[in-house]
Amino acid sequence: MKEQPGNLKRNALAEAVAGGDRRALAQAITLVESTRPEDRPAADALLEKLLPRTGKSIRIGISGAPGVGKSTFIQAFGLHVLEQGHRLAVLAVDPSSRIGGGSILGDKTRMADLAADQRAFIRPSPAGITLGGVARRSREALLLCEAAGHDVVLVETVGVGQSETAVADMTDMFVLLLQPGGGDELQGIKRGIVELADLLLVNKADGEMLEAAGRTAAEYQHALRLLRPATSGWQPEVMRCSALTEAGIPEAWQKVEAFRKAVGKKAIAERRARQARAWLKAELADSLMEALAHHPDLAKQLPALEAKVAAGSATPGAAARAILGGFLGRK
Ligand code: GDP
Repeated sequence: MKEQPGNLKRNALAEAVAGGDRRALAQAITLVESTRPEDRPAADALLEKLLPRTGKSIRIGISGAPGVGKSTFIQAFGLHVLEQGHRLAVLAVDPSSRIGGGSILGDKTRMADLAADQRAFIRPSPAGITLGGVARRSREALLLCEAAGHDVVLVETVGVGQSETAVADMTDMFVLLLQPGGGDELQGIKRGIVELADLLLVNKADGEMLEAAGRTAAEYQHALRLLRPATSGWQPEVMRCSALTEAGIPEAWQKVEAFRKAVGKKAIAERRARQARAWLKAELADSLMEALAHHPDLAKQLPALEAKVAAGSATPGAAARAILGGFLGRK
């Protein structure tokens, strides 16, 4: 078959991404983030082409309440990771960001030194209405970063409910940043999030807060004893660090390496396989909902059915089956 101009461009983009070109990577991520249906075939083709080059990074999720020091930490930690000879990518999952609204997460000005380094790639959160939509596109962006040779990928999220779970579901290791003082609630941490963590870091362990950081670390260390480890083969730990003075930053990276070694390639591969299966199901559910929403007749029926369900004159189950039946062409 004769090669179409679009294919040629796509091949060139795939090659530029594989060659580690940061601008090509940014362009590729823009393509997979596009919500225009006509972009999807090109995005899928690009991902398929690059898929064999993915999977070689350590994927680290990072969360913490606003103000805990995430961006300061990521910059200090990131620069240390680069010094160790790695290439870093930082992605953000922020379901609250809106088109044109500007996202606080992943904002390049927050991590200027890191962003200036050729070996680092920083990408703000895609603007999206639903967490599912944002997470879906971030997963694909993560694969593209790997294909571009970034062997350490950080996925950052702010502690706003479900986003931590979404990030833990796309990474190998989950790191929770804390600050000195207060329990979970005072720290703005939602219940259950501590249970997701493979590593807890009490940041701001410096100056006047040093002692309080020690107390907070001890409290969490104690609390961890009562929890089931998030990853089998790994006992979560609490450490102290200061993103400002960089104390404890090398140790945090050593812990990531220790995690990788202790959990092992096989278990990480199994975790990723599990995540990929769940991702497939989520894609399927989302695609089906989208197809339903765009179905000319069904989209019209939906408001009436919703009203019936709300009024209690039809059950949600029966209404859903009626819609699906119509979609599948049955009476
Ligand atoms: P984020 O909202 O979690 O991204 O937090 P930022 O990185 O923007 O930091 C919030 C504030 O905490 C800023 O004023 C930082 O300078 C400060 N901060 C961050 N890390 C440290 C630290 O290790 N020690 C101290 N003392 N302050 C810090």
